Parts: sequence; C-alpha cells; structure tokens
Amino acid sequence: MKRIGILTSGGDASGMNAAVRAIARSAMNAGLEAYGVNYGYKGLVEGNIFKMESSQLDGIINRGGTILYSARFPEFAEEEVQLKAIEQLKKFGIDALVVIGGDGSYHGALKLTKHGFNSIGVPGTIDNDIPGTDFTIGFDTAVNVATDALDRINDTATSHQRVFVVEVMGRGAGDIALWSGIAAGADAIVIPERDYDVKAIADKLTKNREQGKDHGLIVLAEGVMSAKDFKEELDKHGDFDSRAITLGHIQRGGVPTAKDRVLASRFGDYAVRLLLEGKGGLAIGIRDNQLVATDIIDTLENHKHVTDVSLLDLNERLSF
Ligand code: ATP
Repeated sequence: MKRIGILTSGGDASGMNAAVRAIARSAMNAGLEAYGVNYGYKGLVEGNIFKMESSQLDGIINRGGTILYSARFPEFAEEEVQLKAIEQLKKFGIDALVVIGGDGSYHGALKLTKHGFNSIGVPGTIDNDIPGTDFTIGFDTAVNVATDALDRINDTATSHQRVFVVEVMGRGAGDIALWSGIAAGADAIVIPERDYDVKAIADKLTKNREQGKDHGLIVLAEGVMSAKDFKEELDKHGDFDSRAITLGHIQRGGVPTAKDRVLASRFGDYAVRLLLEGKGGLAIGIRDNQLVATDIIDTLENHKHVTDVSLLDLNERLSF
C-alpha cells in the first residue's frame, strides 16, 4: 500500500473537508501518499487526479463544501465506465480509494469493490440516511442550521400569530426534521417514516389557540410533500394565517460544527488505519459512539437506515 485516493461525491455536506484532511494527513503520517480526485466519479473517469500536499490541507477543517468538488455522474452505474475508472486509478498507481459521500456514492464504491478495486465508504451526507452508522458527516451541521432558522421563524410566528410550515431536507429520511423539530420546540413534526393526520395537527393548533397559544410551527421532511402542498391541506381544516417555507440549500453549507469535524476526523483516520491493516471493501460508521466497519456489499444490499421514530413520540409528549 503506497497511494490512497480520496473522492467526494453526491450532495456536499459540511465536514467533508475535515474528512479529506483526516484521510490525507493520516495517510501521510503513515508514510503513504494521498491523491485527491476532483469532481467525484466524473473526475475519476476523466483522470482529474492530483497528488495532495500537506499544505493544501491547512485551514480546511472549518470550511464547508468540499475542496475536491462534487458532481452527479449517473453514467457511473455503467460497468464499462466503472472499468475506465479503475484504469485511471491504476495509471496513477493508486492502491485504494476512500469515497466520502451518501448512499449513491456508496454504490459507486461498492461497484469498484465488486470489480476487485479496494474501496472504503465514509458516510458524508446531511440526510443521515446511510445504513451501518448512527450518524453521517454533515448531519449535525444541517440540524444546527435548520434549528437556527426555525428559531428565527418562531420569533416572527409569535409576533404575527402565524402558523409556519417549514420544509427541511433529508431526501427519504426524516432525521433532520426530527432533530431540528425537537430542538426548536415544534408543535408537529411530519416525517415519511410515520403516517400523519393533517386534521389532527390542525385540531391541535386550533386547541392551542383556544388555550392562548396563537402561533404554530410545523416541521415537515421533504420526503413527505412540499411545504406549499402541506399548507394547502392544513388550511382545509382550520382558520390559520399560515405560511409555507422551504429552507433549501442553506442546510448543506456553512461552517461545520465541532461534532461534525471530530466525527469526520475519526472516520477518515479509521479508514486509513483499516487500509494499513490490509482491510478494504468496507463501510465506515459509528454506533453507540464506537467506530465500526462493515462489509460494504452486505451493508448496502441487506441493510437499511433506521430513523429513530421514538423521537416523534418524544415530541408529541413535549409539545402542547
Ligand atoms: P446525497 O444523498 O447526499 O445527495 P449521494 O451520494 O446519495 O449523496 P447521488 O447523486 O445519489 O448522491 O450519488 C452520487 C454519485 O454516485 C452519482 O452521481 C453516481 O456517480 C454515483 N452512483 C450513484 N448510484 C450509483 C450506482 N447504483 N452505481 C454506481 N454509481 C452510482
């Protein structure tokens, strides 16, 4: 093992740079060379690959986005394109590739592994929807950004006696909605993992008003429906001065939280240590605060991310 490649792919997530730094620095510390791949799998196939210097890693631990850039490249699902990528990796003398990304990016790493090229997946996505780990890089930052936005919206909701339906990201997962909703004291959280009843939510808001609370905050996961559609449904069941907001891409950017930086540092270093032990074809994760590495093929093909829906029950008990 002499050279490790590093690639970021899929939706960017705050903390990806901290992971790039950790992988590269840990490799250099062990006497290996680190090679950066620009623009995800697209750059890999095109040979947009460069030797990383330690100085390039200075001052990136606290930067959002990814210095290696990201790209959507659906062509990577084709076998001949994957084989081209392996040719490029071999051309640059790279022995193993660490992929930082979400579920789709993991599938790319899985394909390379199936073709016999040693690849390791490091979970980097704000959605927190990757099997084999309790948390992904970028989730904590996204939750904090969403919570801050919800706090601000709550101020204006209170001042103007309005009900706000706020759509947060998460693709098919309700994790960001659950965590930010609880943190902001939402009146209701709506996620794809649990059936919801718009009328019951409207009735709760109406009852709140009768009891003196004349504003409301509903946090809606994007995997359910749009904020606009939900607001229209809500308005059918009550007389609210309601507004719909989609938080959007602000959740993906910004300075990563300390928690995301530490998580990314642990993941990156662990990936390199596993490669040094001759291991590979793995998905890195954290469970019960312990670093874990599971077979990437088995993890993706036989396991699903499980959202902690008990948090929804918690919110129900606390919000009235
Ligand atoms: P996020 O969920 O945060 O957006 P992601 O990694 O799931 O991140 P995707 O766009 O789904 O984002 O995937 C990123 C890239 O991974 C794709 O553009 C493609 O290059 C590659 N990829 C996705 N699915 C596959 C697959 N089935 N086989 C090979 N490569 C894939």
